Amino acid sequence: MEHLERDVVVIGAGPSGLTAAYELNKAGKSVAVLEARDRVGGRTWTDVMDGATIEIGGQWISPDQTGLYSLINELGIETFERYKAGKSVYLNEQGEAIAYDGDDFPVAESTVAEMNKLISLMNELAAQMNPDTPWEHPQAEELDQISFHHFLRQHSDDELACNNVGLFIAGGMLTKPAHTFSALQAVLMASSAGSFDNLVDEDFILDRRIVGTMQGVSKAVAERLGDEIVFLNNPVLKLEWFDGGVVAHGQSVTVSAKKVIVAIPPNLYSRISYVPALPRKQHVTHQHQSMGLVIKVHAVYETPFWREEGLSGTCFGPNALVQELYDNTYTGESTGTLVGFISDLKADAMWELDEEARRAAILKGIAAYLGEKALDPKVFYLSDFAAEEWTRGAYATSYDLGGLYRFGPAQNENIGPIYFSSSDLAGEGFQHVDGAVRMGRRSAARIIAELDG
Ligand code: FAD
Repeated sequence: MEHLERDVVVIGAGPSGLTAAYELNKAGKSVAVLEARDRVGGRTWTDVMDGATIEIGGQWISPDQTGLYSLINELGIETFERYKAGKSVYLNEQGEAIAYDGDDFPVAESTVAEMNKLISLMNELAAQMNPDTPWEHPQAEELDQISFHHFLRQHSDDELACNNVGLFIAGGMLTKPAHTFSALQAVLMASSAGSFDNLVDEDFILDRRIVGTMQGVSKAVAERLGDEIVFLNNPVLKLEWFDGGVVAHGQSVTVSAKKVIVAIPPNLYSRISYVPALPRKQHVTHQHQSMGLVIKVHAVYETPFWREEGLSGTCFGPNALVQELYDNTYTGESTGTLVGFISDLKADAMWELDEEARRAAILKGIAAYLGEKALDPKVFYLSDFAAEEWTRGAYATSYDLGGLYRFGPAQNENIGPIYFSSSDLAGEGFQHVDGAVRMGRRSAARIIAELDG
């Protein structure tokens, strides 16, 4: 067992932990990062399958994500635009695929008007919120007492409008059914992206991708830090803490440090045994943040056949199995890659099936938008972060009903030398790599101020 003495030990080599370590290192602090997996990047992860680049985890970057943009600029990493040319496809309640241009779904004018009304309401509420302190919103207590599902129906009788708007946050972002989280949590999701308009505009929120992939950002930071700082295959299951510091116990390395940054998702905080135990407020708080569940489906074809048909590959179906679909062809590749998402209850149903039945059902779901050519991909791959010990869900964690107002104020408090950092605790960039980077920088800055102060 190797023993190290450092100013700061970071637990977790995802974007948040690595950014924190990078900032600390630049400020002249000694640091070690202990990572459970045999790779860096956490919920960002890339593989190449039959020649096609597949981003298994986080991948898109939007113009408001200036925290992440400033990091990639510093690292000299470029971005490329997602393929957006051509018509989108909407799958209506009768299962008909309708190609359309513009931002509005091809539904009845009255439904479009109701959707716009709900979107305006969400925009107004989001504008009143500081995403760093959602619990201080003027209606925070009230909004946290009602599920997003019921909140939408409180404001509209148009079931289709409620479903269509609900999709953007429930299946699309928090990846939980809309009846399981509050309207306040939904407003935070909108506010964290600048507005609800931004969230519902796929050309904004899914604007660009990273050359070298999103995991490449973590790899570039880890490379700059080097092997003397980042230690893979070192899950920390025990953390001793006291007035002057901590001892973090990894698999093959222990680190004594003045401070620790726990840069893992909140649903995993209780995997670590804290000695002594954490205060009761944290014990309770940590039980109310849970992961959503989504299957990210990749299907790779010999060519992007939908482009020849004047389609962008962007498809939506609020009632469909695959509720969103996009052209996900990596820059420079001649094959065509589609990425689809299957969320919460529909994901549960898919994991109940055997492999063959699951593949058939999902490809049928994609073909419902783009026709029979979609049935025969050369690569078919399902991201399964829920089965990964060091994540246990996707995309990220959110509070249960009433949890954000009650427990949120405690989430960013440090406990003596222990600081928490992850995208799940971010205001701006909440649940996104941008939020992870912002939180990493914030934790590092707080610690540098303490150590120097
Ligand atoms: P993580 O990335 O989860 O990193 C935490 C690290 O801690 C992991 O490496 C883990 O192995 C390690 N760890 C856990 N427990 C321990 C322990 N006890 N000891 C040591 N190490 C430990 N975001 C976007 O911005 N754009 C997207 O398009 C997007 N799409 C996504 C798609 C999917 C399928 C998923 C899963 C996520 C997506 N996200 C996206 C979200 C984004 O990936 C996360 O918000 C981001 O990775 C969070 O970074 P983090 O550092 O906070 O946590």
